[in-house]
Amino acid sequence: MTAQNDNKTYNQPLGGNEMPRFAGPSTMFRLPSQTTAAGLDIAILGVPLDIGTSLRPGTRFGPRGIRAESVMTRPYGMYTKAAPFDSFQVADVGDVALNTFNLADSIAIIENHYHQLLQNNVKPVTLGGDHTIALPILRAIAAKHGPVAVVHVDAHTDTNDHMFGEPVAHGTIFRRAIEEDLIDPHKMVQIGQRTTGYSADDFEWVRQQGVRVVNAEECWYQSLAPLMAEVREKIGTETPVYLSFDIDGIDPAFAPGTGTPEPGGLTSTQAIEIIRGCWGLNLVGSDLVEVSPQYDTTGNTALLAANLVFEMLCSFPGCLRRD
Ligand code: MN
Ligand code: MN
Repeated sequence: MTAQNDNKTYNQPLGGNEMPRFAGPSTMFRLPSQTTAAGLDIAILGVPLDIGTSLRPGTRFGPRGIRAESVMTRPYGMYTKAAPFDSFQVADVGDVALNTFNLADSIAIIENHYHQLLQNNVKPVTLGGDHTIALPILRAIAAKHGPVAVVHVDAHTDTNDHMFGEPVAHGTIFRRAIEEDLIDPHKMVQIGQRTTGYSADDFEWVRQQGVRVVNAEECWYQSLAPLMAEVREKIGTETPVYLSFDIDGIDPAFAPGTGTPEPGGLTSTQAIEIIRGCWGLNLVGSDLVEVSPQYDTTGNTALLAANLVFEMLCSFPGCLRRD
């Protein structure tokens, strides 16, 4: 289905009055699918990787799980008045065809896929997949935009030097991304880190690089709107920004369906505040990673993830508000 706005025709999610929400296409938000990103402003795609994870696997089913729970999402934000599907041409461009028997090969496949994708002037919104996928995505993003600012929500900093001797796994990616100059660490904010580490100074390396690390404890019991005002001040309106959202940043009470859960995390409302607080930044891409449907017996983790992806669409620059 399409809608007219400003003489442009935009893809619309298939409505529940046209086809029951439990039926019809299994694309993200029941949007049209296409095989390339040609003509799109925002491309939603899945990267079903779970061979970079260190504990429970299952994120290979993340994109499918998030798409399945996205059927309830309607096209307008009732509080923000945001209308992403009247603002951007959006479609589901499918999944990256990984080599699930080979992590290094999969990383190369992902990077090549995003280089191709970004030849179109498109902003990728990625459904993960374990967090390893953010490294090849950032390589392609940085090749196009230069080093980017990053808003990173996660229970972990993902800045280990190695995991079991491996330089690339889901817990090392932001160390590699900083070393490779894919990120401006002085314009990177990490939110939600907590619980236990291998040593008392595990978060120090990343702080020494200039990254602002906002531990979960600093977020407890309060609105994160003031924090996000500070983040917008720090990053500014021009710098290209990548938003990387690991669902384990949220407390397992709200988001149990993930591979490396940590208690004492953010609430669903704080997660929404963070993403809405990115409105005003120059977002050039985002991901929602680490949803593992096997550990998500109610579907609530994937349901929350789908809604957070909707909020991401609403925070891309140029998204209309319907006052
Ligand atoms: Mn992570
Ligand atoms: Mn994590």
